[in-house]
Amino acid sequence: MFAKVDGDKFTGFIVERGTEGFTQGPEENKMGIKGSSTVQLYFQDCKVPVENVLGEIGKGHRIAFNILNIGRLKLCAAAIGGARMALNLSVEYAKTREQFKQPISNFGAIKHKLAEMAIRLFVAESSLYRTAKWIDEKEHELLAEGKSFAEALLGGAEEYAIECAALKVYGSEVLDYIVDEGVQIHGGNGYSAEYNISRAYRDSRINRIYEGTNEINRLLTLDMTLKRAMGGRLDLMGPAMAVQKELMSIPDFGAEEEQLFSKELKLVANLKKAILMTAGAAVQKLMMKIENEQEVLMNIADMAIETFNAESVLLRVMKIVEQKGEAASGYQLDIMRTYLYDAADKVNKSGKDAVNAFAEGDEQRMILMGLKRFTKAEPLNSKDARRRLADKMVGEGKYCF
Ligand SMILES: Cc1cc2nc3c(=O)[nH]c(=O)nc-3n(C[C@H](O)[C@H](O)[C@H](O)COP(=O)(O)OP(=O)(O)OC[C@H]3O[C@@H](n4cnc5c(N)ncnc54)[C@H](O)[C@@H]3O)c2cc1C
Repeated sequence: MFAKVDGDKFTGFIVERGTEGFTQGPEENKMGIKGSSTVQLYFQDCKVPVENVLGEIGKGHRIAFNILNIGRLKLCAAAIGGARMALNLSVEYAKTREQFKQPISNFGAIKHKLAEMAIRLFVAESSLYRTAKWIDEKEHELLAEGKSFAEALLGGAEEYAIECAALKVYGSEVLDYIVDEGVQIHGGNGYSAEYNISRAYRDSRINRIYEGTNEINRLLTLDMTLKRAMGGRLDLMGPAMAVQKELMSIPDFGAEEEQLFSKELKLVANLKKAILMTAGAAVQKLMMKIENEQEVLMNIADMAIETFNAESVLLRVMKIVEQKGEAASGYQLDIMRTYLYDAADKVNKSGKDAVNAFAEGDEQRMILMGLKRFTKAEPLNSKDARRRLADKMVGEGKYCF
């Protein structure tokens, strides 16, 4: 637990069960996660021995925030595990449930759902594995610099706190999406407590609330980014100025050498420019008032999360193709291309909503034009791509990418 020593020094403590003055309330009657005990804890004149202080007095925030950082990454991992189970249940059900004399997995509407569930799951995995690897590398770097194990753990998680917040948001929303569509695929049975998917639906919901609500985590992704920029730890100004300059220039339509992934790499680079342009204009225009414009902050956070995911899935698929070859990576390519195709539109919509909230006249027109330019994606037959993914899963009887 955490409390303030002398009224202002935020500090972590271990409080043993049985300590005088420490009691707990009755078990909460929850909507879901009924296997997990939840009670309120009361501390009334509770005397805690000094050796139970965790870390240093006044430095509790380091422990609290870093538990949260790693907790958010782990929440994403847990959400992915649950999502995979819910998807597998749905594939199995869609194969066996017959309507109009055929399995419902034959219907395009159901194929679309199964494929979209798989796409989001694969993308969440990609961002999670990428961040976990970064944290691992940072920990090893800090250990090599002579830092203690505890310091390396804290430092690794702190370095990637922004990504951990993004993972928490995306992982919990992917799980909610998948269990919701899972119930839908189960039809009326999905609403029956006899089917496991209804339990998954109830259990899933808490993930958007604890470990910092998704609203707070969206705000945090930006807050931490801006603080790092102001502290000189992250260069945002340089790239933002470069995008402004590019906007003033005539677009280069020259023929580029076509290479596998060149279009996707360009799109991801452009999505980053769309964020820099929108966020840069918002900061310039709103200055200190930006904190009061949470809708704009939410829009920018969504652009950032989409783009982080788009890059993560692209890099993962590039690696898969490198290892297995293009011909053997068709499903992963379908997933990546469909995600990027949708991400471009989502970034465009969030960007437009943000810009229309604070800009007007020539400035507004110019940024909207920039958004259109930076979120232009190649046409894609996403219906066929999704059908291929759904058919593969139905054949295998599970998520298999
Ligand atoms: C099953 C369960 C287990 C839990 N386990 C733990 C635990 O182990 N340890 C622990 O410390 N806590 C735990 N919690 C508490 C949990 O972390 C909080 O419920 C959660 O952080 C939300 O806080 P709140 O309930 O006070 O909601 P509120 O803060 O009242 O939020 C209500 C709504 O307002 C929004 N909101 C609040 N502030 C802002 C803001 N500044 N800007 C924009 N929107 C805002 C929120 O996003 C939310 O949508 C648990 C909760 C549950 C339900």
